Amino acid sequence: MIKETTKVTTYKFTHFYPESKTVEKVADARLPTEFGEFRIAGYKSLISDEEFVCVYKGDLNENVAAPVRIHSQCLTGDVFHSTKCDCGPQLQHAMETIAKEGRGAVVYQHQEGRGIGILNKIKAYALQDEGADTIEANERLGLEVDLREYGQCVEILKDLGLKRVKFMSNNPEKIQAIKDGGLEIIERVPIEFEPSEDTENYLSVKKFQMGHILNLVS
Ligand SMILES: [Zn+2]
Repeated sequence: MIKETTKVTTYKFTHFYPESKTVEKVADARLPTEFGEFRIAGYKSLISDEEFVCVYKGDLNENVAAPVRIHSQCLTGDVFHSTKCDCGPQLQHAMETIAKEGRGAVVYQHQEGRGIGILNKIKAYALQDEGADTIEANERLGLEVDLREYGQCVEILKDLGLKRVKFMSNNPEKIQAIKDGGLEIIERVPIEFEPSEDTENYLSVKKFQMGHILNLVS
C-alpha cells in the first residue's frame, strides 16, 4: 500500500519493537553460492504479509561479532546490475566479507525502491531521465522518500542468535534500528564505492539530503 504524501521534508527515525515476536522462520536450507557455502532462511511476518530472506553462514551464537547487513531489495541493481545505484556491489561485498570471515548474515528485505515498489521506481527513473533527483522524483509521484522499516530485520538477526555485530551500512537509520533492537554494534563497517558518473547524483542525495555516511562523496 503506497501512502500518499504532499511533501517530504523530514526524515524520522521510528523503530517499534513490540514485546512478542513478529516474525517466524518458515524454512532453512543450504545455499551454495559463487562466494562459497551459505544457508538461506525464509521468514514470514506475523503482523503483515511481508516475507524476508536471510542468507547466513557460520556459528552466529558465539559472542564473537559477526559481519551483518540489512539489504533492501533492488531488482535493478541486484539482478540487472544497474549502475544507477550502488546496491549490487554492496550486496556482493557483504557476501564476500561474510565468506571471508566464515560467519555473518544478510537480511534481504523485499522493499523495492525504498518501499515504493518496482513500477513506481521505474516511473521515478523516467522522471530522473528528465532531470529530477531521487527525492524530487518520489515527491512528484506523491510518494514517500523512504518507507522502509527495519525492526523485523533486526528481530531476524536476533532469532539467528546474534548479539554483537559488525554492521555493514552507511545508513544512520539502519544503524539506529540495530541499536534500538538491542544488538551491540562492535564496529560500523563502511560499504562504499568510488562514485561514478551514473551514481554521482544518487550518492550525493543520499549523503546531503538523507544523511548517509559517505566519505567518498564531496
Ligand atoms: Zn539500487
